[in-house]
Amino acid sequence: MKFFYRGCLLFTLISSNVYADSCNIEIEVGDNMNFVPAALTVSAAACKTVTINLTHTGSLPRNAMGHNWVLSATEDAQGAAQEGWSAGLENQYLKPADIRVIANTKIIGGGESDSVSFNLSDLKVGGDYTFFCSFVGHFAMMKGTFTIAE
Ligand code: ZN
Repeated sequence: MKFFYRGCLLFTLISSNVYADSCNIEIEVGDNMNFVPAALTVSAAACKTVTINLTHTGSLPRNAMGHNWVLSATEDAQGAAQEGWSAGLENQYLKPADIRVIANTKIIGGGESDSVSFNLSDLKVGGDYTFFCSFVGHFAMMKGTFTIAE
């Protein structure tokens, strides 16, 4: 008599997106000059990449009240924003190939949305980063801190 032993394999699906919420950030803008939320913190341990999903909930078109989301080192933010104004809407109000810009979405108007993903491992934990809108004249109002925690 022969005994057959059957192995039983349990396949366990382990989600690779346990921390998905903190790496995938929703930001709203509208017909005024505000980011909601106005400050962001991400975890370097949890997120290799961060995705920003920018949504314009207002109704004004992008040439009147357009917004984008741009990330740079804080010391670079004002220069990148102001020098971007002359680059025009077709360049998202950013100087083409500006190395001060770490990541940016397109300029969007009411009812539109855009996303950008970037690699967090290229940035410093505890570094001083600012996100802002580079639409002409928005920098003074539309900026916030981007904090990278461990
Ligand atoms: Zn704006």
